[in-house]
Amino acid sequence: MPLKYADLEHEVERRCPAGHPLVLRCRPVREVDGRLEPFPTLFWLACDDVHRQIARIEADGGVDLARAWLREDPARLAAFSAQHDAYVAERATLLSDDDRRRLESAGILDELRRRGIGGMLARDAVKCLHLHYAHHLARENLLGAWVDARYEVHGCPAP
Ligand SMILES: [Zn+2]
Repeated sequence: MPLKYADLEHEVERRCPAGHPLVLRCRPVREVDGRLEPFPTLFWLACDDVHRQIARIEADGGVDLARAWLREDPARLAAFSAQHDAYVAERATLLSDDDRRRLESAGILDELRRRGIGGMLARDAVKCLHLHYAHHLARENLLGAWVDARYEVHGCPAP
């Protein structure tokens, strides 16, 4: 069953002009059966309408196009890697001392520190545009900016 944002521990990072949540910033870990598990994305696209528009771009081959665009320029890839680093640093600030202790004792803290945007290990991997677009709306993300430059994504109108 897909997660709904109401199930996530989050803060509303940004709202649509219509007033509903557009981007959530999620707690980077979740309690699962008494254990602490990493939650893969810090930024969650919560607006159904923007979500559908990104899904159409993905269905239209956007993921492969974005990956090729990212990989064709080493300077671009280096800049994107720096955005992964900023994301990792922000995630670290969202973990409590207790979270860190529990992740360490479970042997997953070091791996979590290597996981970049969307929990990806490879800095040139692109599997989904939603999480990059959400990150772009909240911080800086080259792939999200690429989506905006190439496609028209419309926000919800104000009422
Ligand atoms: Zn909206």
